[in-house]
Amino acid sequence: MQDFIYQNTTKIFFGDHIDAELNAAVTQFGHNVLLVTGGHSVHRSGLYDRVQKLLSDTTITDLAGVAPNPKIDSVREGQRLAKANHIDVVLAVGGGSVIDCAKVVATAANYAGDPWELVINRELSRSTPQLPIVTILTLSATGSEMNSGAVISNPETHEKLGTSGAHTPAVSFLDPRLTTTVPASQTAAGSMDIFSHLTEQYFDREPANDATKGMIEGLMRSVIKWAPVAIKDGSDLAARSNLMWTATSALNGTMGLGNRNAWSNHAMEHVLSAYYDITHGVGLGILTPRWMHYVLTQDPTTTPLFARFGRNVWGLSGDEATVAPAAITATYDWISQLGFPMTLPAVGITDDQNFAAMATAAATKLGNSYLPLDAQAVQTIYRAAQTPGLA
Ligand code: NAP
Ligand code: FE
Repeated sequence: MQDFIYQNTTKIFFGDHIDAELNAAVTQFGHNVLLVTGGHSVHRSGLYDRVQKLLSDTTITDLAGVAPNPKIDSVREGQRLAKANHIDVVLAVGGGSVIDCAKVVATAANYAGDPWELVINRELSRSTPQLPIVTILTLSATGSEMNSGAVISNPETHEKLGTSGAHTPAVSFLDPRLTTTVPASQTAAGSMDIFSHLTEQYFDREPANDATKGMIEGLMRSVIKWAPVAIKDGSDLAARSNLMWTATSALNGTMGLGNRNAWSNHAMEHVLSAYYDITHGVGLGILTPRWMHYVLTQDPTTTPLFARFGRNVWGLSGDEATVAPAAITATYDWISQLGFPMTLPAVGITDDQNFAAMATAAATKLGNSYLPLDAQAVQTIYRAAQTPGLA
């Protein structure tokens, strides 16, 4: 195992705690609140009005309309509002996009320059003091509610980059009831994001991290079991609860401890979303099984780990040479049965004109990944995603 230092200071309220605890959780940091929200869902559900009532003794400034794949312009607007209104605490109410935007705003509030500099320079971002962040999560997917990461897009430069702040959120409210309104397609995308965070950390070159691998296998079985249930019946609270805690656990840092942590599919997907603004989880659903197929066929030394994945996650039996590829087929079939478009043309990416530039951009991040990938390899994976199945 690799050495590590781990501290995660996010206080989690799981379940029905918002009415009793939100006001104290926010006002412990002050009374000037920047309330960050997305589009219509928080208004439709009544959550926005509920939060306003619970915080009636605070002064709220709104940063509304944060889009999926949050754009740097929203962060710039948040920075302006935070400075002009002497904000004490940032409250994010929404999914990963809202929380990610709120995190970089919380840092940019204390930064004199353009916030894009905080996105491209992780060290600068981590060393800049960050306002405290409280979150109310409405969609189970990213784990942003308990990690320090944030992913921001710059449409002008076709970049979508991950950065990190000084802290994880101070307090996060995880009430699965708030996710019962998430539509089936978004539930599927979120579940795929959870599954991808787990595979990114499972397929790691650290040879002997059995403790973490076993925990990841348990979380994988949870998302495999509960995603179809929540997609079929959005109001199923057992499914919503399991997905929510699985999402948070998958990316609060613990599943990467002792690992080398060089991810693969997220780098390839971020370039796809940067160019085409597709839903993150959908891009991952298309790419992940093609990446697995490429890795196993290019590097037979990966067979034992794919076989372990097949046995412990998918319940397959047989010899390694059979179980390893069967696990990848099982992964493809599960994603497909969640209702995903399974090819790039199915999400509107009908030609390959940007593949070379996209592959070059992704490959800069993939030199140390589980199977190191150069631009040619990434192009091969994008091309495999042009047609259905695992060719
Ligand atoms: P999202 O982009 O935050 O939200 C997707 C859609 O779901 C929005 O249209 C939103 O509508 C809707 N929605 C949210 N909650 C809802 C609810 N309760 N009922 C109905 N609709 C609801 O989705 P996400 O998957 O959570 O976040 C994706 C972003 O996070 C991507 O940019 C991805 O790259 C990034 N990401 C971050 C991390 C990290 O660790 N920080 C990890 C992985 C991915 P409204 O806008 O109307 O609310
Ligand atoms: Fe993700």
